[in-house]
Amino acid sequence: MSAVKAFDFIVIGGGSGGLAAARRAASHGARVALVEKTHRLGGTCVNVGCVPKKVMFNTSFVRETLEEAKHYGFTLNGEPRFDWNKIKQARDDYVHRLNGIYVRNLEREQVDYFYGAASFLSKDTVQVDGHQLQASKILIATGSHPIFPKVPGVELGISSDGFFDLEKQPRKVAVVGSGYIGIELANIFHGLGTQVSVFVRTDAVLRHFDHIISDTIKGEMSRVGINMVYHSSVKGVEKVDGDDLPLRLHYAVEGQSETSDSFDCVLWAVGRAPTTAGLNLQATGIELDSKGYIKVDEYQATSASGIFALGDVCGLKELTPVAIAAGRALGNRLFGGPQFANARMDYDNIPTVIFSHPPCGDVGLSEADARKKYGDDQIKVYQTKFTAMYYAVTPQKPPTIFKLVVRGPEEKVVGLQIIGRGVDEMLQGFGVAIKMGATKKDFDACVAIHPTSSEELVTLK
Ligand SMILES: Cc1cc2nc3c(=O)[nH]c(=O)nc-3n(C[C@H](O)[C@H](O)[C@H](O)COP(=O)(O)OP(=O)(O)OC[C@H]3O[C@@H](n4cnc5c(N)ncnc54)[C@H](O)[C@@H]3O)c2cc1C
Repeated sequence: MSAVKAFDFIVIGGGSGGLAAARRAASHGARVALVEKTHRLGGTCVNVGCVPKKVMFNTSFVRETLEEAKHYGFTLNGEPRFDWNKIKQARDDYVHRLNGIYVRNLEREQVDYFYGAASFLSKDTVQVDGHQLQASKILIATGSHPIFPKVPGVELGISSDGFFDLEKQPRKVAVVGSGYIGIELANIFHGLGTQVSVFVRTDAVLRHFDHIISDTIKGEMSRVGINMVYHSSVKGVEKVDGDDLPLRLHYAVEGQSETSDSFDCVLWAVGRAPTTAGLNLQATGIELDSKGYIKVDEYQATSASGIFALGDVCGLKELTPVAIAAGRALGNRLFGGPQFANARMDYDNIPTVIFSHPPCGDVGLSEADARKKYGDDQIKVYQTKFTAMYYAVTPQKPPTIFKLVVRGPEEKVVGLQIIGRGVDEMLQGFGVAIKMGATKKDFDACVAIHPTSSEELVTLK
């Protein structure tokens, strides 16, 4: 073990939140050490999350566009051929470029980067790969990881991490789970021509979102031919040698006897858990909640003085920009001087998008949550459903639906839910307006941009 190295700030985890906090602290002159246990800086988002997922969403979108091209008067010679491995290579190259950029960013900010799994020796000392690092302020930003059901043959399936390792496009996939990760990956597979079954425990997908999102995406997935198996529980997976669909998935639908179906890929998307194993948190006295997430206050402080936590490991809003914003706020507050004394992440009105087909998203409260919070008599809902003009000449007519939830006589917007082509790029601007406290009248006062889908949001009746 080498001599103890002293820093102002140690950051454990080189993902979205950790990198943001480390760089921000260093920009204020702090001596910062960042520890990352993999060889790839960037964390979940860059390596096995948002970034490669969005490339695959775009790929599936391109295929959809090729189908639609003929209705726009184009003749494409024969069926377009798709090479899964080609896009995988291009995607991996892009991710590697990003990994390199993150290393150079740390060098530029003079953050000391240590490779290895960190574990606490005491409240102010961390051990990593033969080094002992010491600081009075330590951040835990170790993220989360996929969990697996306890069923026989679980190892024959993959998680979302494994999705990004697939060298070949599966012919027939079982996606188990209906949260946003399962729904996004199921739609990507389907969009690229894989036969997809989704196994759902209840009768709802995206259960934590407004029912307009949940119901519409559910309806769309069935309409395009995804096999939705509701009220089902998966009992296990077995390997059948010599079969071109070698994975036999055993499952039962409520009220019916157990049955099975064959696939060449089973994808578990049944949830995620905080990554705290190996950190030796016992040495710190940090409190966890009942699900193992690290408990923090509004300033990201844990129950152990001098130790902070943010991002997925706290389980608040598990999104990259949330981890980044929390990291920057913390870096500012701890090292930025008096003007940042109160800097903290504001967890209200965070916009989010699900990259389904069509995409959907929300900001603020669902209708049900708004009614619960403010009372039925305080809430009014404006809603519209239409066919985006893009589909005027195509036989497929996926819906576009906008819902605005407003409160009180001044009709302050407290929630917005949107579904349809292009909404993923539409939501950010409306998020700004809602964050600023916009009312329905403010929306109406903005002149429509015609002809677009988004104009319907400023002309709601
Ligand atoms: C399939 C998928 C798609 C997603 N899509 C989106 C999206 O479209 N938009 C969005 O906003 N969010 C998305 N997310 C969520 C997003 O990736 C996470 O919210 C975000 O990465 C959390 O950042 P973090 O800093 O908390 O953790 P991470 O980015 O996961 O970083 C944690 C890092 O800590 C390291 N680590 C763990 N333990 C140790 C240790 N003991 N020592 C050293 N290092 C350690 C890990 O190796 C990892 O690099 C997606 C997630 C998944 C899985």
